[in-house]
Amino acid sequence: MKNRSQFHYHLGLTIFSLFPGVIVLLLTRQWYGLVATVVLVNTFGLFRTNLFLSLSFHVLKPLAGLFGGEGFAPEEMVITLGSEKTLLKFGGKVPAGRILLLLPHCLQRHECQRRITFDPYNCVRCGQCPVGALLDLADRTGVKIAIATGGTLARRHIIELKPLAVVAVACPRDLGQGMLDAHPVPVAGVENQRPAGDCLDTTVDIITVEKTIGRLTGQVDLAT
Ligand code: SF4
Repeated sequence: MKNRSQFHYHLGLTIFSLFPGVIVLLLTRQWYGLVATVVLVNTFGLFRTNLFLSLSFHVLKPLAGLFGGEGFAPEEMVITLGSEKTLLKFGGKVPAGRILLLLPHCLQRHECQRRITFDPYNCVRCGQCPVGALLDLADRTGVKIAIATGGTLARRHIIELKPLAVVAVACPRDLGQGMLDAHPVPVAGVENQRPAGDCLDTTVDIITVEKTIGRLTGQVDLAT
């Protein structure tokens, strides 16, 4: 998945660099002006800043709409490369109390009447959805926890709680865009699972979430 994401990332940057490259070609009338622009953009792209990830994402997004299908999801590229960058740069350096575990509302069982968006601790941990186990995890590790119904509320939680890093759970579409929008706050993403379809009774691998938190705090070896 990482190699595929890297390929998509540089594909997006290469397509983007053709635009300034053609201008350079027209101005200089030298074909290597075009090649140099493509090489230069991809070389700077090795730093994988939010700007370059965002550029590649927005170039690939319309193409993903055209070609569709599995294996060509710009969001997956952002999630894989963005999370890797967050864990490499901040792994082992973030105190648990400055990590925000940000969850999507669709993890809550749809019949449940508890108002957990306002306060996750309104959940009585009945065990019928993953929210209770995620609250147990937050208690055990000391991270903050918040639940969002969409991007606007997610951004509000980040602004209000001022985390140094976020572990975000969401579907690929929301997670990819959300990770770019959260900049400059670093985000490590964990994709949810959707056995009943999108936005309904979703679930998540709690062990993966726990490992991701552990890698940020340093309680889990970065190599695992
Ligand atoms: S664990 Fe139970 S009480 Fe908590 S949100 Fe899920 S269904 Fe509701």
